[in-house]
Amino acid sequence: MDTRAASASDLPSLDRLLNAPAIAPLLERHGRSQVVAALRGELERLRGLALAGEIERNSLAAETIARSVEARLDVAAQPRLRGVFNLTGTVLHTNLGRALLPEEAMHAIARAATAPVNLEFDLAAGSRGDRDALVESLICELTGAEAATVVNNNAAAVLLLLNTLANRREVIVSRGELVEIGGAFRIPDVMRSAGAKLVEVGTTNRTHAHDYADAIGARSALVMKVHASNYAISGFTASVDTAGLAAIAHARGLPLAVDLGSGSLVDFAAFGLPREPVVRDVLAAGADLVAFSGDKLLGGPQAGILAGRVELIAKLKKNPLKRALRAGKLTLAALEAVLALYRAPEFLAERLPTLRLLTRPIAAIEAQAQRLLPVAQGALDERFDVALAAMHSQIGSGALPVDRLASFGFAIRVRKGLRGGLDRLDASLRHLPRPILGRIADKTLWFDLRCLDERDEAEFAAQWSSLRA
Ligand SMILES: *Cc1c(COP(=O)(O)O)cnc(C)c1O
Repeated sequence: MDTRAASASDLPSLDRLLNAPAIAPLLERHGRSQVVAALRGELERLRGLALAGEIERNSLAAETIARSVEARLDVAAQPRLRGVFNLTGTVLHTNLGRALLPEEAMHAIARAATAPVNLEFDLAAGSRGDRDALVESLICELTGAEAATVVNNNAAAVLLLLNTLANRREVIVSRGELVEIGGAFRIPDVMRSAGAKLVEVGTTNRTHAHDYADAIGARSALVMKVHASNYAISGFTASVDTAGLAAIAHARGLPLAVDLGSGSLVDFAAFGLPREPVVRDVLAAGADLVAFSGDKLLGGPQAGILAGRVELIAKLKKNPLKRALRAGKLTLAALEAVLALYRAPEFLAERLPTLRLLTRPIAAIEAQAQRLLPVAQGALDERFDVALAAMHSQIGSGALPVDRLASFGFAIRVRKGLRGGLDRLDASLRHLPRPILGRIADKTLWFDLRCLDERDEAEFAAQWSSLRA
């Protein structure tokens, strides 16, 4: 061991390192360009230390340098997009990727990703086809619509419908429905981006049929209804339902478009869940065009679905914006597979992960919490108090904003004298190989186990063990 201080001239050359046996496995795994860049970075760091007299000669051995470089390369090779445990209590969490796809969708995505597919090729006719045709008949079958088209997300669907049907013309919307969905999606802003002029009618809490009727004029292009997805107005309220609004719009020759946000394809009440508007019912009530998300209650991939009258869908498809907003083949592959599950509603609660999580029996969640409590308790010292707790999950993504689902999990509190302990624990859990994400409220770190798949319990337990280490 040479523990004398190293000088810059003791540093090995890049060439010598590249030929050192300790570096060979790294070259094999990461390739020459990455290894050269990492070695340069490491040599730069060592040079700084040597100039400052802060490093010993034995730290400049090729084996030592190889270990540091390997650590650098491993960190750089880690994907940024990582699997996490969603124990936030919000099932469709926008920041955590919303709906989880079923196996069937996974297989469809893998096939479309790795083999040529008939994305825009009509196999029957042997000529160019339309990508919407892959899912259009399924959407029509499940919603009763005449036609349908798919774009990147529901925000894109709303933008496309406004730009196509109301560019430089007026769109009539109730003041009670000028929602902000989160991020940058606000109805008035989308209107402006689409080139449509917003005409607000009524008041925040009450809008009547005559408010709409009075506002319709020569420059009106569309009446629009926006589902109040992330808030509820209660108390002294009035609004016009879809059928009433359709009658008003149609009497003046205007179409009615509905932005449903998290529209559902089945009646959630049949699964013991709070009721959310069903696309089929909204169309049956007279809406001419309905826009809804693919990855909210529908439980599919990120997509925006537009369903409704055939001549309106045809107009949307002719708009050049459609080309810019269209869905890709992986999305369409997943969407087709998810929609196909809806043909057998008997199995839906079991096969569609979103519905499976939302309908998970409370007894199963409680039993799981009891099973896993010792795991969390064992990983934390006596400064933390970990207890079983009843709690409520949210559906999320704006669906059913006021309804909560009874659930179970852990509540972690710090005992006296550990200031900032809860935030530090939360941060440590976020830095695990598979981060565990909970929610802090009332000086408590809450972990709702509703979204913890029973097949993932061993991995979950392993995270807590590595936390202790
Ligand atoms: C969620 C939502 C949107 C936006 O949908 P994305 O799929 O997130 O683009 C638009 N309108 C309403 C009413 C919504 O709830």
